[in-house]
Amino acid sequence: MHRVAPHLDIPIRQDDLRAHNLVLTFRQIVAAHDTPISRSELATATGLTRPTISRIVDDLLTAGLIVEAGPARSGSSGRPRVGLSLARTGPAGLGLDIRADVLSACVVDLTGAVRHLDFVPHTGTEPATVLPSLAAMADRAVQAAAAENLTVVGATMAAPGPVQDDSIVRFAPMLGWRDVDAGAALSAAISPGSAVLPVLVGNDARLAALGEWHAAGQTMRNFVCVSGEFDIGAGLFLDGAQLSGWAGELGHVMVRSDGPSCACGAAGCLQCYAGLTAILAAATGRGREDGSSPAVAIDTLVSVGDPRILDTLDDAAVALGIAIAGLVNLVTVDTVLLGGSYSLLASWLVDGIDRELRRRVLSANWAPIEVRPAPLGPDAAVIGAALSAVNRVREDPNGWLARVRSR
Ligand SMILES: [Zn+2]
Repeated sequence: MHRVAPHLDIPIRQDDLRAHNLVLTFRQIVAAHDTPISRSELATATGLTRPTISRIVDDLLTAGLIVEAGPARSGSSGRPRVGLSLARTGPAGLGLDIRADVLSACVVDLTGAVRHLDFVPHTGTEPATVLPSLAAMADRAVQAAAAENLTVVGATMAAPGPVQDDSIVRFAPMLGWRDVDAGAALSAAISPGSAVLPVLVGNDARLAALGEWHAAGQTMRNFVCVSGEFDIGAGLFLDGAQLSGWAGELGHVMVRSDGPSCACGAAGCLQCYAGLTAILAAATGRGREDGSSPAVAIDTLVSVGDPRILDTLDDAAVALGIAIAGLVNLVTVDTVLLGGSYSLLASWLVDGIDRELRRRVLSANWAPIEVRPAPLGPDAAVIGAALSAVNRVREDPNGWLARVRSR
């Protein structure tokens, strides 16, 4: 007889109960990260009996989702305990991202480790150009993963704008996309003729925040990751959980009501002052060249000490500080990560943002906010996209087990 988890007080079929207990146990192994966890620790953590845990562990080992990691530590009886860890082979997630200068593809394994990272220069921003290029990169990534005994179970594309139904890019002003069902298009274009790979689409800033959170050991609880790529977006974690929904378009928060027109149709948006293309245009009088990285161009001007770029970056920092202060007055965060290409320019942005936060956030005197560059930087969105794809197995491995059994 299997015990019912405490929070499940509804009548439940035996099959459902087995599936539920498997999820409960597997999530403990996922949550242990790189630290092997023993069968008895799993029994304690889940409240399930030792025989139930043994059967579930056998199922997970047979399905190749976990491995025995050798005697990890000694129990109180002195008997060595066999530790269990996530497998480095088996299911993997694929991420795809559109940056100003490159398209990128990434594969992560079940542990979240990056196993493949590929970049291809842009040849245009229209969906008809970008989506087939991404599909070709996805096919290469799936093959590269297979060579390492990894099976890509799903893909996520990062899009710079609001996304509906995990598939339709409703509006990406900086790409010029409207109502593009990128999920359906990519799913149809990747590996035609073979099994359909599910492709979801997510907001790039939100996926970047997920990537940074994972890279930081999943311990940060309250933070915002402000990413500057094509567009400025924000991904927010509160109480250790990521906020979902439409919001996060920090780039279109108004900074000045009398400001210039924005690509979104409004005026005076943060994007007009702190967008990478806007910074470059303000300092040089011209925009970026197609397919080039505005962050690299800005960094080059900074390195030669161009005074106009330094002034423009100061202004951008003030505008960012004003917009972020508006956010931090509404929700409690202790850290602001400067993500995407902002991480490369953080040295010239942190002080100005910090100054505005101290000035404008009422609680700043008692609850200081740390502003710092995000470690993954421009790669965070594609890594976060790949993580979100493999998270479907990390959260519920029953589909993978059924797939293995049907082979
Ligand atoms: Zn706007």
